[in-house]
Amino acid sequence: MSSGTLSTSLDRAVNRPASTDVVIRAVAVNYAYGEGDTRTQVLFDNHLEISRGEVVIMTGPSGSGKSTLLTLIGALRSMQEGYLEVLGRNLSRADEPARVEIRKEIGFIFQQHNLFTSLSALENVRMATALRPASVEEMNRRAVAMLTRLGLADRIGHRPSELSGGQKQRVAIARALVNSPSLVLADEPTASLDAASSQVVLDLLRELADGPTRTTILLVTHDQRVIDKADRIVNMVGGRIVTNSLTRVAVRIVRALSAVEALSGMGEATLSRLANSMTVEHHRPGGTIVRQGDEGDRFYVVGSGVADAYRDGQFSEEKLFGEGFGMISSYFKSPIPETVTARTEMELYVLAKDDFMRALAADQSFEGRIRALLAGSAAGAGAQAAEAP
Ligand code: ADP
Ligand code: MG
Repeated sequence: MSSGTLSTSLDRAVNRPASTDVVIRAVAVNYAYGEGDTRTQVLFDNHLEISRGEVVIMTGPSGSGKSTLLTLIGALRSMQEGYLEVLGRNLSRADEPARVEIRKEIGFIFQQHNLFTSLSALENVRMATALRPASVEEMNRRAVAMLTRLGLADRIGHRPSELSGGQKQRVAIARALVNSPSLVLADEPTASLDAASSQVVLDLLRELADGPTRTTILLVTHDQRVIDKADRIVNMVGGRIVTNSLTRVAVRIVRALSAVEALSGMGEATLSRLANSMTVEHHRPGGTIVRQGDEGDRFYVVGSGVADAYRDGQFSEEKLFGEGFGMISSYFKSPIPETVTARTEMELYVLAKDDFMRALAADQSFEGRIRALLAGSAAGAGAQAAEAP
């Protein structure tokens, strides 16, 4: 292997202007256990970027290196080769005291739950709240609320020996989440849980990602029920990330976005991130989606079906796959320019104002692209605006 090319690509990746939304950035990460004759490399050239508020699932056969990568990201072991940045901190160079600091911002859910056997469920969770000190009442309140959320309201005084495997696991999950960590790393968190408890845990994780904290979740699991809660699936085989794929909905959104001329030239990673922040709406034939002259707060891209656009009461054009409409009036200082009604059943991908603002912050060309998208869809008005840089 040429270390020259490695360090150049590393430098390039590391020196790229950091988007503030990137929570995990791994570049060319290798890892080996043992030394000398017993040295065995188990991670090979792993690249991974995970943004704030993303729920990412990692799957792969046993022994493929998932837990090793997770413990590197969690600052539980020191890096050997490659670059790793977590929550804005460079872990490639972090010594143990620095790693201890980073770990305080991470909620860990591992299979071996390591509860204190002499402490009650409440006391186990309370221990964690001490990392973010508050008044005793507040820390108790948070611990009780989290245990209750996980269905353990009537078990808060029990010690681990008085709890089932699944209950112990839920105490450990409560402990990991009680501080509203910025990042949650979970290794098979639902393995010992029944279907109903798994659902509670998965809903809670999705809620943390979508809530005001926009917690980032990286989850090793084989649980099929998790898939539709995830934004992205990363598959690891033989120490390498072999696919880094979007969930089915996001794949459809990326396909539609790729058909948008004004967005051409945006990298796949950027489009994927955008797709992940868009939501899906279904509309019935005949329904009005937006009305000319109203204040709008979202953009739409057609995923399937056909819509009719009207300006000043006159039919102006069809909206087909990959075409956009709508308006964020407060930003563009403009009302919705056309009325759009669904002619058929429609699937629409929606970019709401907050996500538009975030996309804008991450990519300065985005505003121009959206202007071009809108101008391009207004018959005849698009020529000069279509040349986004
Ligand atoms: P996974 O979580 O995907 O099952 P792991 O990261 O646990 O995979 O393991 C990857 C490889 O590293 C396996 O071959 C495993 O045997 C080896 N391994 C894991 N932990 C250690 C260790 N502490 N010492 C030596 N080898 C290890
Ligand atoms: Mg493992």
